[in-house]
Formats: sequence, C-alpha cells, structure tokens
Amino acid sequence: MRVCIVGAGFSGAVIARMLAEKDISSLVVDERNHLAGNCHTERDSETGVMVHKYGPHIFHTGIERVWKFINQHGVMMPYVNRVKANVANKIYSLPVNLHTINQFFGEAFSPAEARAFVESKARMDIDEPQTFEEQALRFVGNDLYEAFFKGYTRKQWGCEPSELPASILKRLPLRFNYDDNYFNHPYQGMPRDGYTAIVASILDHPKIEIRLGGRHEDLTEDFAHTFYSGPLDRYFNYDLGRLGYRTLDFVPERAEGDYQGTAVINYPDESVPFTRISEHKHFAPWEADSFDKTIVFREYSRLCGPDDVPYYPIRMVAETQLLEQYEARAAQEKNVTFVGRLGTYQYLDMDVTIDRAMDVAEAYLAAYSPVEA
Ligand code: FAD
Ligand code: UDP
Repeated sequence: MRVCIVGAGFSGAVIARMLAEKDISSLVVDERNHLAGNCHTERDSETGVMVHKYGPHIFHTGIERVWKFINQHGVMMPYVNRVKANVANKIYSLPVNLHTINQFFGEAFSPAEARAFVESKARMDIDEPQTFEEQALRFVGNDLYEAFFKGYTRKQWGCEPSELPASILKRLPLRFNYDDNYFNHPYQGMPRDGYTAIVASILDHPKIEIRLGGRHEDLTEDFAHTFYSGPLDRYFNYDLGRLGYRTLDFVPERAEGDYQGTAVINYPDESVPFTRISEHKHFAPWEADSFDKTIVFREYSRLCGPDDVPYYPIRMVAETQLLEQYEARAAQEKNVTFVGRLGTYQYLDMDVTIDRAMDVAEAYLAAYSPVEA
C-alpha cells in the first residue's frame, strides 16, 4: 500500500523523494494548482520577472546536508540578502550595523566607539529579556528601537512588542562593523530557475504520483501512512478552535525600468501602512538588467481570516494552550505524521523545513518493514 503525502511544499516533496529512493510509492496531493507550497515562484506574464508569489524567499543555511541536497536539484546562484530601511524618508542599512548607527546618529564611530555608544543607550539593567521590547531596549536602546523595530513590529504582528517573545528579534543580527548581510549562515543563494523548478526536480521520481488541485479531505483511498503538512487545526476540522495566524496581502505594481534599485526596502514608520516593498527582479541579479519592466509587491500584514493564506503562526499564550491540545490529539493519530510549518504550527525557514523532513523520512524508514507493507 502506498503512503499519502499532503502538501507539495518542501516538507512533502523531501519526504516523498526519500521514501521513493527506498522503493516506497506515494501520492502527493496539494489543493493548489502548483508545486512548492509557499515557496512557489513563477514568471510574471507582463514583465517576465520571476516572482515569489507568497513573498520573498532567500535560501540560507548552515546545514551541510541541506545545502548539498538543494544543489542536487537546481543551480543555486550567489545571492546576499541586503535589506534597506526607509525611516522618516531617509534610507538606512539593515540589519542594524555600524553604517546604520553612524547614519542614524550622524557620527563616524569606530566599531569600539559605536559599541560603547550603543551600550550607553541600552537598558543594561534588563538581565534576561523575555519580550521583543525588552530584547530591543537591552541591546539597541530606545532610539534605534523606536526608529527601526517598534512600528514595523506593531504593523507586522498587530500587537505590542511587549506582548511578543524575545525570540522573534533574536533572528536579526546586531553588528558593529559594516557587514550588511542580513544572514549569518555560511551558505546563501537563490535558485537560478526558481523554487518551483527545484521542488519539481525533487518530486521527479517514478514512485511518486502528484495530484494538484485535490484536497486531502476528499481522498477515499487507503494508505499505509499519511505525512500531513497542512494546518494542524484543519486536520481536526478546527473543532477545538482556530490557531491564530497573520496573513499577508501582496499588492503588485508594475513600472518601467528600476523601481527602487534593490530587492527589499522595509518601512518601519507607522504612518506608512505596509511593512516593506519587494522588487522581484533584484532577487535574480544575474538577469535583472535584461528586463525593461519591473514588478514590486507592497506587503500588508493582518490577522488571518478563514479564507486567507496562513503565513506566520502567532504563538501567543492563548495559541500555545490550544496548540498543546491539538498536539495531544495529533500524538494519538498513529498512522499520521504532522510535518512542516503548518502541520507543526511553527515558523520554519526552508532549510530547517528540509532538515526536519529528512529526519521524519529517516525515522519512518528506520521503522519500516517491507514485509508488512
Ligand atoms: P508549505 O510551503 O506551506 O506547503 C504546504 C502545502 O500543503 C501548501 O501548498 C498547501 O496548499 C498544502 N495543503 C495544506 N492543506 C492541504 C489539504 N488539506 N489538502 C491538500 N493540500 C493541502 N524561509 C527561508 O528559508 N527564507 C526566506 O526568505 C523565507 N521567507 C519567507 C517569507 C514569508 C512571508 C513566509 C511566511 C515564510 C518564509 N520562509 C522563508 C519560510 C518558508 O515559506 C517555509 O519554510 C516553507 O514554505 C515551509 O514548507 P512546507 O512544505 O512546510 O509548507
Ligand atoms: N523587524 C523589525 N524591523 C525590520 C525588520 C524586522 O522590527 O525592519 C522585526 C519584525 O518584528 C520581524 C522580526 O524583526 O517579525 C524578524 O525579522 P525578519 O526579517 O526575520 O522577519 P520575517 O522574516 O519574519 O518577515
């Protein structure tokens, strides 16, 4: 009997491939009409630019096996994520680095001077920051917090930074040199032909059947096991309530030439309703100059409704309690493994998603007996 894999994103694709290579057949079902889940890329018909339909995705990792795997399924082009911020109509470098500090305070500090200056502004009395706000005040002080983080975070999460965990801000580096690489990982790149081509290559195996435009709920066939990368609460018909998500609206605009000269500019000011503008041709610098036209997405964040695409799990206290109840029920589903960002209700970068999917496939294969199958 074959296995069922719900979702043709990285989670589902990696599991399907690893099982297929050990001769296990699977049906991969996805209700969307395309592969790659939220990492889906497609060429915009008007401009020709490769567009990240569900928001900008930059591949970065420190996990050797993941980098090797992704390179087996596509050509990764060199790419360094360099983000700018527009604060009160002035452009700054992100993540906060020596350039940002010198620009913002109108100084020419050396690294040591900048460190001492920022420490003089930081709330050193906060010993162990628990919230986003405490983390910001402890490490950058009030001025940089108000300019770069407070408004952006209120727009992005729809709540006060004092209500969010410190872990969200810990994702961002603070540097006292001019390194403006947004990430610290040793490997970073962008797929030359887009993420969808990579996922198509992962799924390209005779033991894998792909069914797009089909819902898990409508399947009638029996399966040896199900790997479910859909929303955890949806699997249980939301009968304990809905886990909260933020959703995003991407509002496109097409223009001639170059719109903003870079891939991403963040807008922390609360007088601006969107959080950032992404110009997609700059995610592919090797081909950006070949397009006469350009397409940008303005990104607006809001609470996810029943018919919206879930993006960021909110994970506040109420959600965490509900999550524990769903997790207890999930543990009782012996023939189902819940995987991925929706199945485990966690923000997972692509590399972590792939690494976890590899772990899940390995655990299944270790327990698998071909005689019983
Ligand atoms: P998904 O990609 O969501 O795939 C799940 C699939 O399951 C979907 O296609 C869905 O249609 C399908 N499905 C769900 N329920 C059902 C059902 N009942 N029946 C049939 N099909 C179903 N990561 C990075 O590493 N770098 C980045 O720069 C980055 N940027 C991001 C930007 C944004 C705005 C967001 C929200 C995430 C970003 N990520 C980034 C994270 C990345 O999107 C995830 O790691 C990745 O999408 C997780 O893959 P997945 O397969 O678990 O889930
Ligand atoms: N953030 C911010 N200002 C910025 C960029 C990020 O306040 O210019 C905050 C925001 O709360 C965000 C978090 O830092 O959710 C993590 O940033 P990251 O770039 O990882 O955001 P994501 O990938 O979640 O969009």
